[in-house]
Amino acid sequence: MNKALFLDRDGVINVEINYLSKIEDFIFIDGIFDLCKKYQDKGYLLFVVTNQSGIARGFYSESDFNLLTSWMIKEFLNKGIKIQKAYFCPHHPEISGECSCRKPKAGMLLEAKKEFDIDLENSILVGDKERDIESAITAGLKESYLFDEKGVCEESKAIKIVSSLREI
Ligand SMILES: [Mg+2]
Ligand SMILES: [Zn+2]
Repeated sequence: MNKALFLDRDGVINVEINYLSKIEDFIFIDGIFDLCKKYQDKGYLLFVVTNQSGIARGFYSESDFNLLTSWMIKEFLNKGIKIQKAYFCPHHPEISGECSCRKPKAGMLLEAKKEFDIDLENSILVGDKERDIESAITAGLKESYLFDEKGVCEESKAIKIVSSLREI
């Protein structure tokens, strides 16, 4: 089985902008490449797991999302980092109905387990919202980190709240 490092996208890989869909608005967060390299070197497979309700809401299309994702994956590759797959939830419960992939649900993590034979218990997740952490706990991950750059969050089910990706 393989260990994985699961990364939320908005607020972990890139600076959060509401309903980001354009390459020119995508700013990588300091430390993200080093974090990925560190775990890649330890043998972890890297995945993105992201809620993208902007698709259900019609703010951007699935092909807009795919274009941005291909570009992002190439940027990682340029740094010698391989993202195995970017899982995304295009739904929103009030628009497209309930689904099993939108975090805090664990659908995307379970899908990765199936597709890539992931040892979820010994995998790691980094998120910036408590719903990211909840998806990790539901999927049975023991190690998750809440990235809180502004240092405003006092409580989390994550094993650690970090204000820099370099603490992970
Ligand atoms: Mg986020
Ligand atoms: Zn979904």
